[in-house]
Formats: sequence, structure tokens, C-alpha cells
Amino acid sequence: MIKIKAEILCVGTELLVGEILNTNVQYISKKLADIGVDLYYQTTVGDNFKRIKECLKIAFNRVDLVITTGGLGPTMDDITKEVVADFFKEELELNEKYYDKIIERYKLRGFGEDISSGGKKEASIIKGSKLIENSIGLAPGFFFEKNNKKIIVLPGPPKELSHMIDNEVVTLLKEYSDDTLIMKTLEIKGIPKGKIDDTLKKYFLMSNPTVAPYAKEKCVHIRVAMKGSRNNIGSINIKIDKIINEIKGIYPQALEV
Ligand code: ATP
Ligand code: MG
Repeated sequence: MIKIKAEILCVGTELLVGEILNTNVQYISKKLADIGVDLYYQTTVGDNFKRIKECLKIAFNRVDLVITTGGLGPTMDDITKEVVADFFKEELELNEKYYDKIIERYKLRGFGEDISSGGKKEASIIKGSKLIENSIGLAPGFFFEKNNKKIIVLPGPPKELSHMIDNEVVTLLKEYSDDTLIMKTLEIKGIPKGKIDDTLKKYFLMSNPTVAPYAKEKCVHIRVAMKGSRNNIGSINIKIDKIINEIKGIYPQALEV
């Protein structure tokens, strides 16, 4: 089984100016962790052709898979697909099914059958790519692969994004990883982080499971995480629980959160 390294590329000026919270990146990251895909980078870029293309160049120099979100709509500032097509030197092609969906929506809204060029653009995906269904919205996603570079292009609206990740993308990506990452967290109150660092030092030096401390406002979280095959979930849990119990032995006030 080949292991792939991934990067998420979030497209949208709204994200950069702090207008909206980037919930998509969290959603995708969690799902990638669940199925054991190694996510190495998260990048956010505005709706700018040159800069998005630059991000794709950088990303494909360091990972095998890029997942983009945002910029698939009908308006002028939605340019993700155009940049991806340009980057791979490929053409966009109208997807009839999604074009029909858009025509239907226009009719329903009383706009008639005069579809603006934006409608065609919205319904297009890269020639030769695999369609990723968007059963909630109008913009289809797609998976495209060339010269070992893989890209998954998804829309921005969080409802559409999460639905497509759950129903389409996870299945697609499971082909590339049979791993899973399981994490459990302990919360310790009333002990300063520096003291915990000293006491649990030997744990923090371990790898797989890894044990890591996170200072919170009024407590410290200790996260125990282990990666392994999805077929071995039982034994992964046993190894994690062993460490959790040892730490609980040292700090009886530790609670699993
Ligand atoms: P649309 O067809 O609605 O234009 P789109 O695929 O072009 O969809 P964007 O225009 O980039 O996507 O974003 C649409 C909306 O989705 C944004 O206004 C924002 O509310 C939300 N959104 C976009 N990206 C994210 C993100 N990373 N996290 C959370 N919400 C997002
Ligand atoms: Mg848009």
C-alpha cells in the first residue's frame, strides 16, 4: 500500500480577512486523520489566480494529494477550477447532469432558461476527471490525477463540503490508506504544565503511540495517539489504554475528555 502525503488548500478571500471561520479545514483534517492519510500542510489563499497557482506549485512539490475547498461557484471570483485546469494544462468540460440541475434551479426560481455563462462554468469539471457528486448543491466536485499528482476539488459551503467528504471522498481515499489514527485525551487540573512535562517526560519521548501535552487555560490536556491498520483497532486501543491507565496512576485526578 502506497502512503500518500496530503495538503489542504482553502480558497477564499473571506477566510483571509477573518470574515468567516475556516471550519472546512478542521472538518477535512479530522476525516483524513480518521482514515490515516498523512496531512502535512494546511494552506489558505485568496481568490487570486496567480497566488492559487503558486500554492498548487508549492503543494505538489511537497505532497502527493491536494484537497481544495471553495471557489467553485458561478461568479467571477470563483476561479479554483480554472486555476487547476491551467496548472495541469487541461480543459474544463461541461457536465450535462449538473448543467441540467442548474437549468432546473433557474426555472424554479423563475429566471427562465437563459443560463448565464456562470451556470456553465459552475457545471464544468476537468476533462478526464472523476466526478464527485454534490447531492446538496449545484457545483460538482472532482478527482483528477496526472503524473502522480492527485487533486480533489470541493466546494466551499460547509454543508456541501462535509456531505461530499463523508459520502464520496472518504471512500475514494481509503484506497490509498488502510491506516487509522486513534486518539484519546486526558485532562489534568491543578498541576502546572512544567511539572507534568518533567513527570511524564519518558512518555513524551515515545513514538507510536505518541503522548503530547497541551496547555489549556485552566488545565493540561495529554493526548495519546496511535496509528495503525484499520484491521488492528482492538490492539491499538489496548496500547493506548495501557498508557492512559499508567498516567491515571500517576495523576489520579486525570479525567478522560
Ligand atoms: P458558491 O457556489 O456558494 O459560491 P463556492 O464553492 O464558490 O460556493 P465559496 O464561494 O468559496 O465557495 O464559498 C461559499 C461560502 O461557503 C462562503 O461564503 C462561506 O460562507 C463558506 N465557506 C467557504 N470556504 C469555507 C471554509 N473553508 N470554511 C467554512 N466556510 C467556508
Ligand atoms: Mg463562490
